[in-house]
Amino acid sequence: MRLPSTPTLSQVCAAQPYLKLTSTKPREALVRLLTSDHPFGIEVGRRRSPPVPPNCRICRFCRQKAALEDEMHVLFTCEDARLQHIRETQLLQLLLPLLPGARQLFRRLEPLAFLNFVMGKERLLAVFAHYVLDVFQLVDTVPFFSVPSDSPLAGPVGVNATV
Ligand SMILES: [Zn+2]
Repeated sequence: MRLPSTPTLSQVCAAQPYLKLTSTKPREALVRLLTSDHPFGIEVGRRRSPPVPPNCRICRFCRQKAALEDEMHVLFTCEDARLQHIRETQLLQLLLPLLPGARQLFRRLEPLAFLNFVMGKERLLAVFAHYVLDVFQLVDTVPFFSVPSDSPLAGPVGVNATV
């Protein structure tokens, strides 16, 4: 995952609020997300031997050729019903008591901007970390998915895709 700008050394070395989360598994999930040690296809395909070309690491949920399975897609934009359900019940509804405008903010901001906003608010981190853990657990129930690099560039992918 790319950061919006290069952090300074003091920013890198500063104690991060998410490390104060007391629940171990959600904290670990958040650290995995931030260090690209996550189960999303964009990283899983990179670690395969031979590596799957980046543009072939398609979202295992919606299987749309234009939808690379990266952090922003799975966490914030994929329209798969399973992910939308978790996003609604485990993120947006739980953020509402802490952030009354959460739903509007989610719709208005680009995914990376929303992520940066949440990561910058200590009171929101526990909900977000639990959400990330829930998404990771769902991802683990669906096999990695990729398509051949010469497949059509638009629309849903077909039966010739490799799993
Ligand atoms: Zn998707």
